[in-house]
Amino acid sequence: MVVPARSWFGGLIPAMLRFFGARPRFKERGVGVILAGLKLYDFLGRHERILPRSGFLGRRRLRRQLRGIADSFVAGCTYHDAWITAPERLGLELAMDGCAADTGSVALNHCELVGRDGDALLFRDAADPASEPLRATGKVVINAAGAWIDRANKAMGEDTAFIGGTKGSHILLDHDDLHARLRGKMIYFESADSRICLVFPYLDKVLLGSTDIPLAEPDDAVCTDEEIDYLFAALHGIFPGLGIGTPDIVYTYSGVRPLVRSGADDPGDISRDHSMPALEPAGDRGFPVLSLVGGKWTTFRAFAQQTTDEVLRRLGKTRRSTTEARPIGGGDGFSPTPEHLARQVAALGAAHGTSPKHAQHLVAFYGARADTMAAFCAAAPDRPVAGLVGYTERELTFLATRELVVHLEDLVLRRTPMAILGQLDAANIREVCRIVAAALGWDAARSEAELERLRSTLSRQHRVVIGEDRQEFEHRRATS
Ligand SMILES: Cc1cc2nc3c(=O)[nH]c(=O)nc-3n(C[C@H](O)[C@H](O)[C@H](O)COP(=O)(O)OP(=O)(O)OC[C@H]3O[C@@H](n4cnc5c(N)ncnc54)[C@H](O)[C@@H]3O)c2cc1C
Repeated sequence: MVVPARSWFGGLIPAMLRFFGARPRFKERGVGVILAGLKLYDFLGRHERILPRSGFLGRRRLRRQLRGIADSFVAGCTYHDAWITAPERLGLELAMDGCAADTGSVALNHCELVGRDGDALLFRDAADPASEPLRATGKVVINAAGAWIDRANKAMGEDTAFIGGTKGSHILLDHDDLHARLRGKMIYFESADSRICLVFPYLDKVLLGSTDIPLAEPDDAVCTDEEIDYLFAALHGIFPGLGIGTPDIVYTYSGVRPLVRSGADDPGDISRDHSMPALEPAGDRGFPVLSLVGGKWTTFRAFAQQTTDEVLRRLGKTRRSTTEARPIGGGDGFSPTPEHLARQVAALGAAHGTSPKHAQHLVAFYGARADTMAAFCAAAPDRPVAGLVGYTERELTFLATRELVVHLEDLVLRRTPMAILGQLDAANIREVCRIVAAALGWDAARSEAELERLRSTLSRQHRVVIGEDRQEFEHRRATS
């Protein structure tokens, strides 16, 4: 990560005041403040260091690293951090690992908590809305509904105001010049209003984000024109000569961070920490409810451990094992070193006759689970999905039948990166739908309904407009 700065000493006084508990606004953090923060970070993490230390880039080196960066930047700092390429797959594989670890576990997709009947929680299966609600009972309930936590508590008959979420929007750009200038680095920079933004290569695209806007209703989170203008203005502050604009956007997305409700005027001042407020048993509700406020990917393993410890304490049990060092899903037995990747690709070819190209794709997307996937692909005639580079028909059949897919959009948006990478067009979504329909036994009416649902989600939430009568998808601002 590179953090460029426009001054040497900017932000020193606000930083000192913050150290003593005041909340002054930061404006233009200088190299001194950034480097001091990063060195403190190095020091605090010194016993468990797995990444290189932070560093300093003088004016000339900064310019060499980031071609075309604005003249106003005097220097920069560097540090290393971990990143998740496919959070949606990590979430899914966690759920599947949980089910595999205990046959008493069940993961139900598109099942909404809608009410409570005494000690039973009532869930509506969206795939079969006319059916009787499912009932579940338990000694402790954990509400992990993210930005919807208060709504889920309400369904249990409890009025809470734990969440004060902020919306964050991101855009995906198809821009070779920007991709090349980044050279694999993330730039962490300040916008004109001193908010933190970031831009980094995401596979063959570039991801630019994000905004931080209070939003009470998480279902309303979409990336607006104003947010796009804001993000482009921030990016032009870094690379003034970059010819980039809305035609380069292939996808947008927006979500609400489940932050703790606070009286802060500035969204940047809301704590990003997590907490677990408890609703103790009361009235006809015989179980406590623990709400997981402020979850983040960065801290989810620690938060999960704290939550389980609290549940064990309430049940009067002691911990028998820890998952602290346990790999997740396709991370079990996977190593990303080039030698190991080459060995895994060769092993798939030897065991299942997988072509090197498809083996590379499987290993990159599914890690160690690629072997199960390749065996499935080899068990029947397989062929590439027409109009979609990389995927095969059997691979999509595997995802549809083994990975809790209920709707077409689950596979397109939440099992694969095909939508976020702007790979969809009118023809290939029909082809994907045909494969999923065959795997899940959908008739023609259901397939049409699924296609319509997908098109609607793509245009409403991601600004991807797929023309039914065109072979290429087109993406543009609604008003332009
Ligand atoms: C813009 C943005 C940027 C972020 N950046 C980062 C980052 O850089 N690093 C980081 O670590 N984290 C980041 N996060 C945080 C992280 O992505 C999420 O906040 C975190 O995943 C929240 O996890 P969660 O499991 O608590 O909630 P969620 O992931 O929101 O999951 C809640 C689930 O509950 C379901 N649900 C809601 N209501 C009901 C109901 N009644 N019945 C059943 N299910 C229900 C929802 O459908 C959803 O699937 C970011 C978040 C956003 C929005």
